[in-house]
Amino acid sequence: MSTRTTLITGIGSLVTNDLGHGTGPLGLLADAAVVVDGDTVAWVGPAAQAPAADERFDAGGRALLPGFVDSHAHLVFAGDRTAEFNARMSGQSYSAGGIRTTVAATRAASDAELDANVAGFVREALRQGTTTIECKSGYGLTVEDEARALRIAAKHTPETTYLGAHIVAPEYAEDPAGYVDLVTGEMLDACAPHARWVDVFCEKGAFDGDQARAVLAAGIERGLTPRVHANQLTYGPGVQLAVELGAASADHCTHLTDEDVAALAGSATVATLLPGAEFSTCAEYPSGRRLLDAGAVVALSTDCNPGSSFTSSMAFCIAVAVREMGMTPDEAVWSATAGGAHALRRSDVGSVAVGSRADLLLLDAPSHVHLAYRPGVPLTAAVWRAGVREV
Ligand SMILES: [Zn+2]
Repeated sequence: MSTRTTLITGIGSLVTNDLGHGTGPLGLLADAAVVVDGDTVAWVGPAAQAPAADERFDAGGRALLPGFVDSHAHLVFAGDRTAEFNARMSGQSYSAGGIRTTVAATRAASDAELDANVAGFVREALRQGTTTIECKSGYGLTVEDEARALRIAAKHTPETTYLGAHIVAPEYAEDPAGYVDLVTGEMLDACAPHARWVDVFCEKGAFDGDQARAVLAAGIERGLTPRVHANQLTYGPGVQLAVELGAASADHCTHLTDEDVAALAGSATVATLLPGAEFSTCAEYPSGRRLLDAGAVVALSTDCNPGSSFTSSMAFCIAVAVREMGMTPDEAVWSATAGGAHALRRSDVGSVAVGSRADLLLLDAPSHVHLAYRPGVPLTAAVWRAGVREV
C-alpha cells in the first residue's frame, strides 16, 4: 500500500546538498519541486518536470532547505542562570565551574519537569527549522541522575550522548580518579543502554587527556561511539585524542595548533564549531576558514545549554559563522545541515535527495543566504519533519 504523496512546488531556490543535483557545494536548484512520499523524499527536480501527487503545496518562490541538524546540545536540565550571565556580561570570565549550579537544580527536579524542559527545547528548535537534535546528559553526575537524563532524552531524540564526564561531580572534588572510575564503571553500565554516543569535556578544570582517554575507551568498549568537547578554552589534547580514537566529532575546536588542524583534515572526525559559546562568553571565535582551507569537514551547532550558549537558533550560528569565522553563507548553511549529519554519522538527514528523510525548512526568503544576511529575523515559513508538517 502506498502512502500519501505531497508535491512541494514553486521552490525559488532549493538547497539539496546533493552533488548529483544543481550547482555548487549546496547542489542548488532554481525553480524546483520536491515530492514527499510518507516520511521520505521521493523525487527532486525542476518544477516543470514534477510528477503528480495526492497533495500540492506552493512554496511561492521561496527557498527550501534540508532541516537543520544540530549535533551538539545539552537540553536535560533545570534551573535558571540568568544572574550568572548578567554578572559575566559585567566583566567576569567563564569557567567550567558554573555547571555545578545547574547540576544542583537538575538533581532536585522531577522527571516530569525535566521531560517538559526537553520537549520545550526540541519544540523551540523545531520552530526555527531544526529537525534533528543531539542531546547530552551531564547535569546529573550520579549514576541515577545520568541514567535518568538519558532515559528522558531518548524519548525525544535517538541522538543521545552520555556525558557523565562533563565535570567532576562535586562529591568527588577531592577524588577525581574515583569519579573517573564511576564514570567508566557503574555509571556507564546504567547509561549505555540509553545512549548512542559517549562524550567528555577534555579541558583544564574538567578532564585531562589521560582521564578523557579512559572515559572514551570505556564507552567504546560498551558499544558507544565517541565525540569530544575539545580545545574550547585552551589548547590541549582533545582534538588529537578524538582523531586517534575515531571520534565522530571534535566539538568547539577554538584553540587549535597547526598539528590539530592537520589531524582533523586527515581524518573522518568532523570539526564541530559552536559559535554561540564564544558569542555568549565574549571569547575568541574558532576559525572556520582555517579548517575548511585545510580540508576538514566542518559542522555548525548551537551547544544549547544554560551556562555558556543558551540559544537553540541554528540561523544565529550561521550568521555568526559568516560574520566572525570566515565562512561563506554557502559553507555555513552546508555545515548547519549536511555538516551536522556528518557529525552524527547520519546519511538520511542533512540533504534533500531521493531516499532522504523528508525534513524540510521553507524560508520566508528567496535564498538561503538570507539566513546570514538577515540576522535575528525569524525566517521560518514552514517545517516538515519526517514528512509531517510541524510548523
Ligand atoms: Zn557542549
